[in-house]
Amino acid sequence: MSTIFHRIINRELPADIVYEDEHLIAFRDIAPQAPVHVLFVPKVDVATLNDLAPDQAEVVGRLAVAAAAYAKREGFAEDGYRIVMNCNEDGGQTVFQIHLHLLAGAPLGRFGT
Ligand code: C5P
Repeated sequence: MSTIFHRIINRELPADIVYEDEHLIAFRDIAPQAPVHVLFVPKVDVATLNDLAPDQAEVVGRLAVAAAAYAKREGFAEDGYRIVMNCNEDGGQTVFQIHLHLLAGAPLGRFGT
């Protein structure tokens, strides 16, 4: 599997990386939808949330934990933030390596409003 995100992980494409560990990488979205828009991407290959095996729950768990830690470090955890994972066409997924969007920095409103 090779997506744009794999190429970022492998340093074949540039990205504004804000966090990395052995399990995941986080970088600023190139087309931010909020003042803060960071993507958290696991280093294990999983194309969509539908492909996540029951014994891979920690893959998504680590993304959420890393996003919350980033929010705390950056000082907006108390104000709040949104995390989103898009799946397939109706979900708006365009890169087929699972990733979690962290959106923050302004009141984001409720879905559908
Ligand atoms: O959930 P979805 O698959 O639509 O999200 C992919 C995201 O990856 C988009 O928000 C897009 O702006 C971002 N992207 C990026 N850097 C790239 C290519 C895409 O941040 N080189």
